[in-house]
Amino acid sequence: MDEHCIEAVELLYHYLDGELTDARRGLIQNHLDDCPPCFQAYDFEAELRIVVRQKCRDHVPESLMLRVAAALRDVEGDEE
Ligand SMILES: [Zn+2]
Repeated sequence: MDEHCIEAVELLYHYLDGELTDARRGLIQNHLDDCPPCFQAYDFEAELRIVVRQKCRDHVPESLMLRVAAALRDVEGDEE
């Protein structure tokens, strides 16, 4: 992962939480369009959030958050 990826992943969490401005959303979207590993991470997290919200409302089990973190580490490892 280059520094743009790290920044994008960090912003991703805010993006999914709906806490970003439209300008920052645009920056992330541009990065995702150009960076398949980040796009896959986004896809995974977005789907996970939907499932978690439907099943658990606002409570996210720690085990799920750990799996998200592990998935992001896998994306990072793919570039080696
Ligand atoms: Zn990236």
